[in-house]
Amino acid sequence: MIPFNKPYLSGKETSYIEDAVNSGKISGNGKYTKLCQDFFEKRYEFKKCLLTTSCTDALEMCAILANIEIDDEVIIPSYTFVSTALAFVRQGAKIIFADSNSENPNIDTSKLEALITPKTKAIVPVHYAGIACDMDNIMDLAKKYNLLVIEDAAQAIDSYYTFKDGTQKALGSIGHMSAFSFHETKNIIAGEGGMLVINDEQFIKRAEIIWEKGTNRAEFFRGEINKYGWVDTGSSFLPSEIISAFLWAQLEQLDQIQNRRKELWNLYYKLLKPQENKGFKTITIPSNASNNAHMFFLVFDSLEKRTACINILKNNDVLAVFHYLSLHKSEYYKDKYQGEELVWSDYYTDRLVRLPLFYELTEKEIEKIVSLITA
Ligand SMILES: *Cc1c(COP(=O)(O)O)cnc(C)c1O
Repeated sequence: MIPFNKPYLSGKETSYIEDAVNSGKISGNGKYTKLCQDFFEKRYEFKKCLLTTSCTDALEMCAILANIEIDDEVIIPSYTFVSTALAFVRQGAKIIFADSNSENPNIDTSKLEALITPKTKAIVPVHYAGIACDMDNIMDLAKKYNLLVIEDAAQAIDSYYTFKDGTQKALGSIGHMSAFSFHETKNIIAGEGGMLVINDEQFIKRAEIIWEKGTNRAEFFRGEINKYGWVDTGSSFLPSEIISAFLWAQLEQLDQIQNRRKELWNLYYKLLKPQENKGFKTITIPSNASNNAHMFFLVFDSLEKRTACINILKNNDVLAVFHYLSLHKSEYYKDKYQGEELVWSDYYTDRLVRLPLFYELTEKEIEKIVSLITA
C-alpha cells in the first residue's frame, strides 16, 4: 500500500527527547525551545518566534494580539482549514469569506478591496500548498486601510515571495504576525506543534505574556522584574521540551528533507504536466513564489473525474485525498453567511486532489501512481 502520508523521522528525535527528560527540565521554554526559535529567527528573518502546541493555537494568539472583538470583521479565504477561521470566531469576529483565484486556491486579491469595510480589522491570507499569496497587493491594501495582516503559514515553511521591487522574503516574515504548523502532515513535524511569528515589534511583549498564561514570567526569567504575576489574558500556549526536542531533530535536517521533497515533487510534475489533456491540470507556480514541495495536487475537470481517479488509486492500494469543503458552506457557518457565491472556492472543493508526497516515497511509486492516473 502507498499511504497518503508517512511522517519522516531524522533518527535523532528519541535521543533529544531522552536528553530533555534527563535534563530535569521538561516543561516549556527550555533549551530545545530556544534552539528551535533561534534557528527560525536567524534563517528566515522572523523578528520573534514562540513555539506553540499547534498552528491553531498560534492563530488564537494572533486573534488575541490583534484585539479582535465582537463584530470586528476578519477576511479569510473560504477554501482553507477550519483553524484559520476558528481562532477569530472564538473572539467573536464576523468572518468575511474571500474567494480563491482561477490559477490556484490562494485568495483572489483583485476582489479583496470590495470586502473591506470600516469594521475590517485583519486579513488572513493562507499560503496554500506553501505557494505565496499575492503579498504586494495584500500589504498595499493593509497599509491603505490600516489593517493587520496575519499569515496562515501552516503549510509554508521554507518558502519565499519576491516583491515587485525585487526583495525576497520568507513566507511568515511579511505580515504583522504569522502562524506555522508542525503537525505530522506538514514538511517539518513534531506530532502536534506550531509556532507564532511576530514581525511587528509592538506585539512582542504582549505575545510572551499571552503565551505564558497571562503572566509576565518571561520577563521574570530574564531578570527584568523580581516577581511575576497575572497581568493579562492568555493561555498555556507553549509546548513542553519533549515536543521541542523532537522538532529540533527535524530542523537539523531541514535542507535534506526539503531537497528530497522537491525531487519527488519535480518528478510528479515532469510526468504529469505533458498529460494534462487527460481531464486534469497541474499547478503552475507563479514566478514571484517559490515551491516548498508541501503538496502535489491536481485539479480535475469535474467532480466525477476526481472521484473516478481517487477510486482507481484506491483499488490499486494508493491513498489520495481531497480536502477543504468551502467554509462558508460548512454546517457551522452556512446560516451565518451573507456574502456572494464563491465560485472558485467551490471549484477547488469539488475538483482538487492531493497525491501522496512524503520523504520515503520512491520514484518507482510515483511512476506507478502517475500511470494509474493517466491510464
Ligand atoms: C495544518 C493547517 C492548520 C492547522 O495546523 P495545526 O498545527 O494542526 O493546528 C491551519 N491552517 C492550515 C492552512 C493548515 O494547513
